[in-house]
Amino acid sequence: MKKTAIITGASKGIGAATAILFAQKGYNVVINYNNSYESATLLARSLSQNGFSVTTQKANVANRLEAELLIKETLYKFGRIDVLVNNAGVAFESLISSTDEVDYDRIMDINLKGTFNCCKAVTQVMVNQQAGKIINISSMWGETGASCEVAYSASKAGVIGLTKALAKELAPSGITVNAVSPGIIETSMNSNLTVEELNDFVATIPLGRMGTADEIAQAVYFLASDNADYITGQVLSVNGGYVI
Ligand code: NAP
Repeated sequence: MKKTAIITGASKGIGAATAILFAQKGYNVVINYNNSYESATLLARSLSQNGFSVTTQKANVANRLEAELLIKETLYKFGRIDVLVNNAGVAFESLISSTDEVDYDRIMDINLKGTFNCCKAVTQVMVNQQAGKIINISSMWGETGASCEVAYSASKAGVIGLTKALAKELAPSGITVNAVSPGIIETSMNSNLTVEELNDFVATIPLGRMGTADEIAQAVYFLASDNADYITGQVLSVNGGYVI
C-alpha cells in the first residue's frame, strides 16, 4: 500500500522541498499551508501534472481544531498516515525588551503548540496502525540559543523537548519521533537579512555556505525511511558544522 506523508508549512521553503522529495519517492503527500494558497496550489498542480499523488489542505497548525481536521481529512482521503513532518514555523528577531506578549504567544503558538497540536492529533491514528514516523523541524538556535531571538529559540528548544518526551511515550507503539535541526538555509525565512549580513554569517560556517532546502528534506526523508527504524528521540543537526 502506498504510504502517506503530511508536511506542514509546505507552501514554500523547506516544507515545499520536503513535499517534492516525498512525492518523488512515491508517497501520497498532503501539502499543508496557512496563508500561501497560491504557492501551495501551484506546487500541488505541478506535482500532479507529473503523475505524483498530492493534495493541499489549509490549516493554521496553531489552531487545535484546524490541526485535527488536517489529520482527519488526510485519513479520510488516504486511509492511513505513515509520516508527519511538523515543519510549519515563523521566525522572529527582536530584543527581549521589544518582544511583547503578543509576539511571544504568536511564535510559541505556531512553532511549539502547532507541533504539539499535530502530534496529538496524529497519535491515535499511528497507535492504531502500530507504526508511524514523526519528524519535527527545530533549529540550531533551539540547541544553542540566538541573541535577539529569545522567543524563537525557546520555541525551537521546546520542539526538541517535545520530541524526546514523545519518542519515549510512543516507542512501545512502534512509532519513532525525531527532530531535524537546520542551520541557516536558503529560504524566504532569511530574506530579511542583507547580503552583507548573510556574507558575514556564511564566513562563520565551517562548510562555507548556507544549506539548501533540499538538504534538509533529505535528512527528513532519511528519518522517515526504514533505514532509520532504530532511531528515535534524536536531533539530527544539518548546519554545515556551525554547531558541533
Ligand atoms: P518559510 O520559507 O518562511 O516557510 C514557512 C512555512 O511555514 C510556510 O509554508 C508557511 O505557510 C508555514 N506556516 C507558517 N505559519 C503557519 C501556520 N500557522 N500554520 C501552517 N503553516 C504555517 O520558512 P522555512 O525556512 O522553509 O522554514 C521551515 C521550518 O524550518 C520552520 O519551522 C523554521 O523555523 C525552520 N528553520 C528554518 C531555518 C532557515 O534558515 N530557513 C533554519 C532553522 C530552522 P503559509 O505561507 O502558507 O502561511
